[in-house]
Amino acid sequence: METRNGEQHQVVVIGGGPAGLSMAVRLRERGINDVVVLEREQEAGGVPRHCGHWGFGWESHRRLMSGPEFAGRLREEAASVDVRTGHTVLSFAGPGLMRVHSAATGIVQIAAKRVVLATGARESSRAARLIGGARLPQVMNTGTLQQLVYLKGISPFRRPVIIGGEWVSFSALMTCAHAGIRPAAMIVAEPSLDAPWLFGVGARLRYGVAVHKATRLLAIQGTSHVTGVEVEAQGRRRVIACDGVIVSGRFVPEDTLLAGGAAGTVTRVGNVEGELKTAGRCAAQARAAADMMEKTLR
Ligand SMILES: Cc1cc2nc3c(=O)[nH]c(=O)nc-3n(C[C@H](O)[C@H](O)[C@H](O)COP(=O)(O)OP(=O)(O)OC[C@H]3O[C@@H](n4cnc5c(N)ncnc54)[C@H](O)[C@@H]3O)c2cc1C
Repeated sequence: METRNGEQHQVVVIGGGPAGLSMAVRLRERGINDVVVLEREQEAGGVPRHCGHWGFGWESHRRLMSGPEFAGRLREEAASVDVRTGHTVLSFAGPGLMRVHSAATGIVQIAAKRVVLATGARESSRAARLIGGARLPQVMNTGTLQQLVYLKGISPFRRPVIIGGEWVSFSALMTCAHAGIRPAAMIVAEPSLDAPWLFGVGARLRYGVAVHKATRLLAIQGTSHVTGVEVEAQGRRRVIACDGVIVSGRFVPEDTLLAGGAAGTVTRVGNVEGELKTAGRCAAQARAAADMMEKTLR
């Protein structure tokens, strides 16, 4: 049963990733004490929690860290903030009024003078990319692969194909290497990589993985398990044998909560803004947004 628990806060931040935590910490530093962060996972830190490689934090902390180290650092900084993990914002019941679920309380309504949306971005789905073939468990995006490998210690396949040529596609490659998985190939629809071209050279020389550019994925083959992918390049079709598919990149903002328009005015910080940024830039941008917001709360 849904209850209205009468909670009312100055600021509620939805999402406890780099942007949400940094926003809340900065508001506290500026003297706004009534700030609550609602995070659906059991641990705050966002995507970096399961990116077990280096490359985080330079823009915000002037230090390069691994993803989990960076997430841990942000959690430490937020130690004095009311961060509620296991709390999912389900929808808006009106401007500044959220329906929130947690295992302990069920569904309650929480109100805020200001709402910050820091829910990040997600890789677009296989369905959105019009990829044919059966729905099989060995087909996943980079985020899911990283959660399996880094958080659960599971290697879901031995010889997958990686779809995409963005930074995150190479993050998928590094995750595979970490887990002892050797991808059969990387398939890039465009004629050049979105990531720096040197990454393509590195994929071949460092990891022994060929990058096929201007190559389109048509369908995933297999009935109970992935057995291959059908691809097309220069009008010619062929099958690459593999046992899994990582569909990487093409991020879209995670802003479904704003659909329907009930939310009223909401401040977006981090990757939910639309432009895909590094975690450090998300953190720095959120701190700047907190400085702006603090002036309007006085
Ligand atoms: C595979 C991969 C590799 C990457 N590698 C790098 C790298 O090497 N270096 C780098 O700087 N950046 C890297 N990035 C990018 C970096 O992770 C992001 O820029 C950063 O995490 C964005 O921060 P954010 O706070 O906007 O969103 P997120 O980190 O996505 O955090 C959003 C949070 O909101 C929570 N949330 C969502 N919806 C709700 C809801 N309804 N209720 C409550 N909570 C909710 C989520 O659980 C999550 O914790 C990588 C990203 C990926 C996917």
